[in-house]
Amino acid sequence: MANTKMAQLLFGNVDKTPEDYEIMYPDRGLNEGAKVTRFAPSPTGFLHFGSLFAAFVASKTAGDDGVFYLRIEDTDKKREVEDGVIGMVNGLKDFGIIPTEGAINATDEVGAYGPYTQSRRNHIYHAYVKSLVEQGLAYPCFMTEDEIAEIRKEQEAQKELPGIYGKYAKYRDITADEAQARIANGDEYVVRLKSPGKPDGRISFKDEVKGKVEMPENILDIVLLKKDGTPTYHFAHAVDDHLMHTTHVTRGDEWLSSVPIHLQLFYVLGFKAPKYAHISPIMKEDAETGGKRKLSKRKDPEAAVSFYAEAGYPAGAVNEYLMTIANSNFEDWRRANKTDSIDKFDFKLSKMSKAGALFDMVKLHDISKTYISTMNTDEVFDAVTAWSAEYDKELNSLIMRDTDYAKRIFSIERGNKKPRKDIGKWSEVKDYIAYFYDELFDGKYDWAENMSKDDIKAILTRYKEIYNHQSPSEDWFPQVQSLAEELGFAKSPKDYKADPDSFKGHAGDVAGVIRVAVTGRLNTPDLYSIMQTLGEDKVKERINTAIEGI
Ligand code: GLU
Repeated sequence: MANTKMAQLLFGNVDKTPEDYEIMYPDRGLNEGAKVTRFAPSPTGFLHFGSLFAAFVASKTAGDDGVFYLRIEDTDKKREVEDGVIGMVNGLKDFGIIPTEGAINATDEVGAYGPYTQSRRNHIYHAYVKSLVEQGLAYPCFMTEDEIAEIRKEQEAQKELPGIYGKYAKYRDITADEAQARIANGDEYVVRLKSPGKPDGRISFKDEVKGKVEMPENILDIVLLKKDGTPTYHFAHAVDDHLMHTTHVTRGDEWLSSVPIHLQLFYVLGFKAPKYAHISPIMKEDAETGGKRKLSKRKDPEAAVSFYAEAGYPAGAVNEYLMTIANSNFEDWRRANKTDSIDKFDFKLSKMSKAGALFDMVKLHDISKTYISTMNTDEVFDAVTAWSAEYDKELNSLIMRDTDYAKRIFSIERGNKKPRKDIGKWSEVKDYIAYFYDELFDGKYDWAENMSKDDIKAILTRYKEIYNHQSPSEDWFPQVQSLAEELGFAKSPKDYKADPDSFKGHAGDVAGVIRVAVTGRLNTPDLYSIMQTLGEDKVKERINTAIEGI
């Protein structure tokens, strides 16, 4: 029964119809099978690692053919914080997750299917609610907060499903005249869905991650428009996902229980429902209980994406880690395709784990070490400069003092077949390069325990005499070997092992002494390259200082 009078009463100023909007938001004309996905956060400013993961999954699902857009779901103004939108936009950008459409800062958006901010779409939602009212599928409800609280109490006491439905849906059949009288009286109202659900009805659908899911049908007359005329999240998302032509809704599985409402909304609105992919949360081993729990904003620093930027994990490394959580076959693929772009990996929703993946910091760190080891010198230099400009001014000014010198440091053992994996995050760089800068060189010496002071002194004193900064790298170790022989050390570990009583040690031990004198450390990248980078004067100075300190 057409309820034109009621529709006119509630939405007299709405002049557009759903048909108008259907024309304004035409089919996207994408290639067959191309997917449209979105990330739809509330602008709370805090980007949780789990949300980043959801955005990552959405963007990978869209891939190159599809569209991945950002929609700001700000229907709940209470939860919104200042700069919340920009926090979300930048949070994604830091990890190279760049939506093709949507908000690009607090005020501007790109894309032809906007506005992408729900608070700017009220006129659209009103047109659709008006049409539902007109079709008798929605109605104004004048129940007060007190009445609703009473009902909830009664339902709790009777152990009934909480909410407004059946006998509790007092205004389901309100007439336009009654509504008019109440409005004239200044009574406030919300607009509710007249749910077509049956009390014992069940629905089933195929979730792209969870597989077949069966649930009770929705029977609640949920709120579509709140008293102030703004939509509820449930209603807004249905209209938006329809008009923006979302094909796949990827989101956290805390939304799984809302699917019956959502599918019903798509149904009453006459929309084709999108496919759903509900992603399991990222879990964490709880140090206190030993059990598993969700990664928590309150307890875990790594739950905030700002953690990764501050620690200096490269965006690419975090992406690699996200993909290992997303698809367990990624790691094998990566081993077989070491230098390929991650975009070549064939990500599949169906390969996502149904149970929550466990967050593993050690693994992230390992992945990051490998990732950084494949970066070239300029990339490392640029990343370290950018990171240190923000998070470590001292490091930044040291590097900027002589950028060629810094690049020579970063180039050591980089670009070869088996690059070293010394750096896992940019905050480790300072320690890694410390002995290249007097300001950072702490003058502590990690002498090997099996070396006597006299031997150390003898090695260094003699090495200082024979050290030739001009000699090519292939001559370096032979020189150390002859020094070793001269001072009673074997030329090689093999010779030493064959007759340990005749030697004090072997050439490797001698090299170790030189290494510690120059760098303070027993373990470093190629010592010859280090010395070439430090320069002749500095090497000699270091050796002298080391001798004096013994
Ligand atoms: N705005 C919802 C949230 O804050 C998004 C739910 C969805 O993606 O449908 O998580």
